[in-house]
Amino acid sequence: MKDGMKTKTPQQKTQTIPEILAVIRKAKSILISGHVRPDGDSLGSMIALAHLLNREGIQACATADQHGLGGPGFLRGIKSLVSAKKALKMKVDLLITVDAGSLDRVPQEVQTIATRCPVLCIDHHITNTRFGTYNWIDGKASSTGEMIWHLSRRAKWELDDIAAEALWVAVVTDTGRFAYDMTKPSTLLCGADLLRHGVRTSVINDKLYASFSRTNMELKKRAFQTLKLLRNGEIAYLTLSSKDLIETNGTKADAEDVIDIPRHIEGNRVALFFYGSKSNKNETRVSIRTRDPLNAFELAKQFDGGGHTRAAGCTIHQPMEQARKTMLAAIETWLDTQQ
Ligand code: AMP
Ligand code: MN
Ligand code: MN
Repeated sequence: MKDGMKTKTPQQKTQTIPEILAVIRKAKSILISGHVRPDGDSLGSMIALAHLLNREGIQACATADQHGLGGPGFLRGIKSLVSAKKALKMKVDLLITVDAGSLDRVPQEVQTIATRCPVLCIDHHITNTRFGTYNWIDGKASSTGEMIWHLSRRAKWELDDIAAEALWVAVVTDTGRFAYDMTKPSTLLCGADLLRHGVRTSVINDKLYASFSRTNMELKKRAFQTLKLLRNGEIAYLTLSSKDLIETNGTKADAEDVIDIPRHIEGNRVALFFYGSKSNKNETRVSIRTRDPLNAFELAKQFDGGGHTRAAGCTIHQPMEQARKTMLAAIETWLDTQQ
């Protein structure tokens, strides 16, 4: 990269697409990373971007833990992912993070790589901390996948079925199959364009939403038994302990739809899914979903978490039972200040 681009001064402003493309085109060796415990948007965006860049003759590869990817694990392009450990040994002159709202959301090894080279942050979290040397943040975008699609159109990169399916998974999973508030006309235009490139819609729908692994079924069964309703269901929550995850050999990705159980209860306004960490008993993770007008990230932010208006998450540095009490007390106080 040119000397001027080596300066790593965090900038508050959001770069424009031409500026982002200039940064990408000057790089010789790009590493792309999403957030830890990657979801469909994170995986789909990184796979599509790496694939599109490679097709343009730009050296790029994506890194993610290839184990426990859940439904999106079927994506072609998964096999070309490198482990974070391997990425640490690679020569990288531009790190692109996708779908990560803050630097602590990317794997530890990637955080180390970020100290060695410029970082281009592409993301749609309202809570994004602008941690990149360059930042392209669109808090109104439905998904990072939609942003990558916009980028590819502006750059005139040619889409193929591999990139289109990866972007389709990214957009479909983050928009609840084109249903959530963030679904805009541009999201449907993006979907329409992806369909022109051979997306196998029903195959993908089956993989994501209609073929549950035994692990997913077992986790849902266990989670159902823990379901609790407060305020007549206005608040509903369930739990998977680290023991549940260890005994089922499950990951967060295997339990991606568990949060829908409390969320689908009639009259529910705040749904919570508490899950343990396999490696640290003093850490409890929380998935939060809210209904209009409650702002999920407002609640997550009280615990240094982040996310979007209706879907957010955080980690509470307390064991499960204590963390649940802390969160539920915070919600009671918070709801009293809301409509
Ligand atoms: P999840 O409940 O894991 O599906 O996450 C919902 C949204 O919140 C996603 O956009 C995540 O990226 C974000 N999120 C989840 N956990 C955290 C966290 N600990 N810190 C910041 N953002 C988070
Ligand atoms: Mn994500
Ligand atoms: Mn996303």
